[in-house]
Amino acid sequence: MTETLIQLVYLVSSVLFILSLRGLGRAETARRGMQYAMLGMALAVLATLANEQIVSYEWILIGLIVGAVMGYPMGMWVPMTAMPQRIAFSHAFGALAATLVGIGEYISAAKHGGMATISAGKMTALGLEVLFGALTVTGSLMAFGKLQGILPGRPLTYPHQNTTNLVLFGLGLSCFVYLIWVPEAQWVFWLMVLIAFMIGILMVVPIGGADMPVVIALLNSYAGLAAAATGFALNNNILIIAGALDGASGFVLALVMSKAMNRSFGNVLFGAFGSAEVAAAAVGGGGGKSGTMVAINAEDAAMRLAYAQKVVIVPGYGMAVSQAQHQVRELVELIEKRGVEVRFAIHPVAGRMPGHMNVLLAEAGVPYDKLLEMDEVNPKFPETDVALVIGANDVVNPAARTNSASPIYGMPILNVHEAKSILVLKRGTGAGFSGVENDLFIDPKTSMLFGDAKDSLGHLIVEVKAA
Ligand code: NAP
Repeated sequence: MTETLIQLVYLVSSVLFILSLRGLGRAETARRGMQYAMLGMALAVLATLANEQIVSYEWILIGLIVGAVMGYPMGMWVPMTAMPQRIAFSHAFGALAATLVGIGEYISAAKHGGMATISAGKMTALGLEVLFGALTVTGSLMAFGKLQGILPGRPLTYPHQNTTNLVLFGLGLSCFVYLIWVPEAQWVFWLMVLIAFMIGILMVVPIGGADMPVVIALLNSYAGLAAAATGFALNNNILIIAGALDGASGFVLALVMSKAMNRSFGNVLFGAFGSAEVAAAAVGGGGGKSGTMVAINAEDAAMRLAYAQKVVIVPGYGMAVSQAQHQVRELVELIEKRGVEVRFAIHPVAGRMPGHMNVLLAEAGVPYDKLLEMDEVNPKFPETDVALVIGANDVVNPAARTNSASPIYGMPILNVHEAKSILVLKRGTGAGFSGVENDLFIDPKTSMLFGDAKDSLGHLIVEVKAA
């Protein structure tokens, strides 16, 4: 009876996970999506705790306390701008759990003399669990290190890197296949674990920091596959379903992000090889025009906004850093009262994680219908009186279209340069995430309001009120 009930609760949890993914697809329903996910996970954990095979709850309790003590601060206090590395860190833990379960299962089979009889199916599941799990642990830690600035963000390369990785991968795969036929070969098992840990490191270090979000999404997918394999090894349906959903959604997210940067998977994963040219291009990498930026004061900038007919706001990473979203909403309300039509242009990789701008603007209460995606807003720039760029750089860099030597060449951009006039809020002449120059800032149509975005918006609000 208990077993049937557990399976029923697992079924409800699975439905909630699917509804959650569906909800997360749109900004309006994302919050509800997260609530479904939390409820589904809570039910799944409770149902698992009711399993009759559990012999002692002490270690589970200790695990719950340690997990909560680590998880709460990570969820509550890590700033949104550091979310990619936080997610990478979480993946490392999830994958470590899957790897340790796999290793534990193998050791337990060895101890109880069941090695020779371990079925090919079970060994396949265990092998996949450990392979995907171990490479995700070290890969995620490398991604975390790069984004946190602990490791150099630039691609780290050495001669014959491609070949070394391929040989290592082949060796790991051979160990895996061998173990399916000869599961009692314990040294092969440990060799496979070691190789998987090494693959994780060697796979991620040659990838540049700018591509880390795609890598993290891909590692998310691997962690999901490891979890699904754990489900097969432990005969646990919810792990299989949740792992498969995680694996598939992580993969789709990685594809979507690659597309937004106009990069192929192969380019992201192996693009760093022969990176000397990439590094050289990154030093300049802009459109190569010469000119100077023209600074403007808050009063003049406010006049332009107050007397415009159509304004498009382009938020970027700088808005997130200065937490200026509430001032943005206040400014929008003020100029809208004066009859200005305001829209937001949202680039899919603006900020540091997918949906970063949507989340911040939603938090400030900006209505969703004002947010236009890139394809929808780009045709509107030629008829826009003022494009107000708030802490965005790479996503508005025309070099992505015009300079084939630029590291961001091919990345789709917001066509801000087509607006009638451009107003940029940033602190100084700093480059964007990719480190390349941006000719938009020296365009004769562009005026720069230097300063922290939140302060500059504060001044603009005062001046618009006085206008
Ligand atoms: P960006 O290229 O990183 O540029 C941000 C700009 O904001 C900088 O030029 C900086 O200039 C300015 N800034 C920083 N702090 C500021 C502050 N307090 N007030 C005002 N301005 C400030 O940003 P983006 O245009 O949003 O482009 C995102 C980049 O991140 C892309 O290259 C994308 O590929 C990459 N990326 C995206 C994701 C994702 O999933 N969204 C994840 C990781 C990486 P100053 O220093 O002069 O102020």
